[in-house]
Amino acid sequence: MRRVVVVGYGMAGARLADELRRRDPDVSVTVVGAEPHAAYNRVLLSTVVAGTMTPESTRLHDERWAAEHGVDLRVGCEVLEIDRSARTVELDSGELVPYDALVLATGSTPWVPPAEGLVEDGVLAPGVVAFRTLDDCAEIEAKAHRGAPVVVLGGGLLGIEAARGLAGRGCLVTVVHPVGHLMERQLDPDAGHVLARTLGGLGIEFRLNSTAAKYLPGDGLVLDDGTHLPAELVVVSAGVRAETSLARKAGLTVDRGIVVDDALRTSDPRVHAIGDCAQHPGTVSGLVQPAWDQAAVLADRLTGANPAARYRGTSVVTRLKARDVDLAALGDVHTGVDCPDSEVLCFQEPSRGRYAKLVLRDDRVAGAIVLGAPDAAATITQLYDRGIPAPTDRLALLLGRALPAEAASPADLPSSAVICRCNTVSKGQIVSAWRAGAESLPQLAEATRATTGCGGCKDAVCGLLDWLGASQPAPA
Ligand SMILES: Cc1cc2nc3c(=O)[nH]c(=O)nc-3n(C[C@H](O)[C@H](O)[C@H](O)COP(=O)(O)OP(=O)(O)OC[C@H]3O[C@@H](n4cnc5c(N)ncnc54)[C@H](O)[C@@H]3O)c2cc1C
Repeated sequence: MRRVVVVGYGMAGARLADELRRRDPDVSVTVVGAEPHAAYNRVLLSTVVAGTMTPESTRLHDERWAAEHGVDLRVGCEVLEIDRSARTVELDSGELVPYDALVLATGSTPWVPPAEGLVEDGVLAPGVVAFRTLDDCAEIEAKAHRGAPVVVLGGGLLGIEAARGLAGRGCLVTVVHPVGHLMERQLDPDAGHVLARTLGGLGIEFRLNSTAAKYLPGDGLVLDDGTHLPAELVVVSAGVRAETSLARKAGLTVDRGIVVDDALRTSDPRVHAIGDCAQHPGTVSGLVQPAWDQAAVLADRLTGANPAARYRGTSVVTRLKARDVDLAALGDVHTGVDCPDSEVLCFQEPSRGRYAKLVLRDDRVAGAIVLGAPDAAATITQLYDRGIPAPTDRLALLLGRALPAEAASPADLPSSAVICRCNTVSKGQIVSAWRAGAESLPQLAEATRATTGCGGCKDAVCGLLDWLGASQPAPA
């Protein structure tokens, strides 16, 4: 029997265990996870910080699931070494675990800016917390009381989600960001400024083009321009680095991440890598959708369900999960209006928190930023997913009025329309699962996994369920 050992019980490792079992009840699966918890949905941590979800409700699966599915699960246990010639991994208990196929799903670790005093003796100083794990959330929650001055280091997606959650708890939040506008990976400067204005209206302050120079425990932060920011809590959300130390030590090829090919093989064909730690050409890492797509492909290959399966990349749509702010960004958003081979349209209404930018190439959506206009975001995302020509009335498209009102009905969506992005679940898959008997939201989630990622598609799935229920017996 084939022995598969998975290093890392995070979102990619837990999903892979699940995918392996769905395909093959007999393959031997061992999962080793350094965190002391059962696997949880990291994407939902911002909602835990915001106080709208409990840590328990983020759970993916646990020891009971592992026991029921015959998975050898080692929680709170670290892999220290890989011996590629003996084909074993060494655990921190000293035990050697043999493998036929090894999968690295070691994720990524927060990057801490090099400000004096943030790190003491190799660990974060008191009052400084990273934003990566459930334990980090518990520490943030313990310190984030109403009226507490809090500084968030980093104005990227996660920093903003943390800031919004903390402001919602009544903390006095300042975001320090080294670049001139927020979320510069996903937004152009104008969109970044509209976002900052919207968040400013929700009580969050910003120090852009600023870096932390010195941390004074119990007092606050000194910025590079000498400004002093009082802080009872500093949340570090300044980016992540792929966790590659184990792979590097084992002599595997490592660049920004562990280099893998379309078969998700590293430079040693018996060792694979998926999720945040993996570097696949053309794939944006640090997001869950690629990690889960990769887990499905690798499970196909390792169980023999589809030995020819290949991972070809994931087209990612970024959504901000922050109460009262609706933001989606996709594809190439940095093309300027003067680019000769693209049609670029912009609309902005900062006072109402609205901004839309659309990049079209050969009449198709190549990129977009849509802030404060959820209807436009939904239509543009569908056009992007389907790769079909955009309607000629571009202005209507930007304003979310490109399709007649009745086209918003689930009945008019094509079967290929992606409903749940985190899990890449289409309308067609939801309809098939419903026809096979999954007639409630939990049953549909179990059958297709729709809604089990960031949860942003729940309304759409409920809309489909209502439509399916109303159109019994035979929806299109
Ligand atoms: C607050 C927050 C919000 C996010 N929001 C979104 C979002 O909205 N959309 C999105 O797409 N993505 C989001 N992400 C990113 C997403 O969570 C990651 O892309 C995803 O978790 C990657 O899964 P992974 O399994 O590769 O890594 P992880 O989930 O980080 O899991 C890696 C696991 O491996 C363990 N490990 C590492 N080394 C070892 C070792 N040697 N031995 C044993 N175990 C080891 C680690 O302890 C960890 O538990 C968010 C992340 C955070 C922190």
